[in-house]
Amino acid sequence: MNNLKIQDEQLAKIDLDISLLNDFFGAYLNHPDNPTAYSIIHEVFNKLSKDLNGLDKTALTEFERLIARQAKSGISAQKELSDFLINPREGDITSVVDCTYGGSSFKEIKDIILNFDVGEYKRFVSDSDIIRKNRNSVRKLGNPKEDPRELIKSAVMKYGKKLGIIDDSFDFNIIIDSIPRSYWESDKRICVISQDDFRGKEIDGLYVISLTGPYFTAIHEVLGHGFHQLCSEGVPETISYSLFQGSNIKTSAHREGVASEREHSAYTFLREHAKEYHIAESDLEFVAGYKEFAEQLTVVLTYKGLNDNKVVSDEKINKKIAQIDEIHRQYVYKDGLPSHSIRMALYEASYYFGRKKIREIKRQFNNFPANRVERALNTGVWAMDVLPDFMDYFLRKDK
Ligand SMILES: [Zn+2]
Repeated sequence: MNNLKIQDEQLAKIDLDISLLNDFFGAYLNHPDNPTAYSIIHEVFNKLSKDLNGLDKTALTEFERLIARQAKSGISAQKELSDFLINPREGDITSVVDCTYGGSSFKEIKDIILNFDVGEYKRFVSDSDIIRKNRNSVRKLGNPKEDPRELIKSAVMKYGKKLGIIDDSFDFNIIIDSIPRSYWESDKRICVISQDDFRGKEIDGLYVISLTGPYFTAIHEVLGHGFHQLCSEGVPETISYSLFQGSNIKTSAHREGVASEREHSAYTFLREHAKEYHIAESDLEFVAGYKEFAEQLTVVLTYKGLNDNKVVSDEKINKKIAQIDEIHRQYVYKDGLPSHSIRMALYEASYYFGRKKIREIKRQFNNFPANRVERALNTGVWAMDVLPDFMDYFLRKDK
């Protein structure tokens, strides 16, 4: 779409500065308690905020005004986060979370945990014969005649083509690795799948892996993140899909929201092609059902990480988390729920809040053709408070 260019010279300069800021902020996040790095990054915030306030709004196009809003929104969240990380205090976490995810997100996180149905979770995971209690057990494979990577790639391509979002020219590779979680390697276009995503069951003393989890994972990584990257090629730096852009925490909900929603949408497709991809019905039901718990678990991990780092403390919530952790340890993963850094803990909630917001936005624009909504939804990486206005702009202009 050729309306996605910045013509205003001042804004074009700010746009490049934002990209440098994001690079720097990404590096800063590795040492958030370093006072020198903190004061440098705040000088950059102040300069950019001044530049943004100095723009002649009447001279900007509608798209340029959206970019300026996006820049401001990202800076305010980065500022809030850095102020918090240099001196993490319980009283301030509410505003950090609310600024990152909007509304009363922090209260929502606490409510989700307090309402988490521990009994139902235990019943669900203990009922299944599909386990992944021990990472090393994956080594005892069954006798797969087909390369799992080929099967996974074939399913991703077929689903993407069915959705009408990719064609045969779309290419990527798959690597299966012993890393703790899967990701999309955007520079090399590789879907890296964690071996933890491969569940399995013991049949006659042999551990037989199920590919059902990895199918969902690859659809998340490739048709979620990969497609988002594809649609975002050539957009201004402020909304670009690059690795360092991930250091703008305001955009993580958009990134994970579109990918998670895509992943959840794959259930019907995988069901229809169960035979072709060797998916047992019980596996599919289990993996799909577990996703609903997994989404709630992301905010559990947010609170747990903050608690582990002594940022928050609430006896009632901690008791609930301990119960969930125990079930998790017993039936799902022998190491229990992971303990995250503050930064990673904050990121976790982007899956829950991101998907929730993406679903709201899809309803808001459901009178437009689905493929155009997909395009709009995946063009650029936005703060969730700016995304609906960009969608409105895109759908009006891109005909
Ligand atoms: Zn993701």
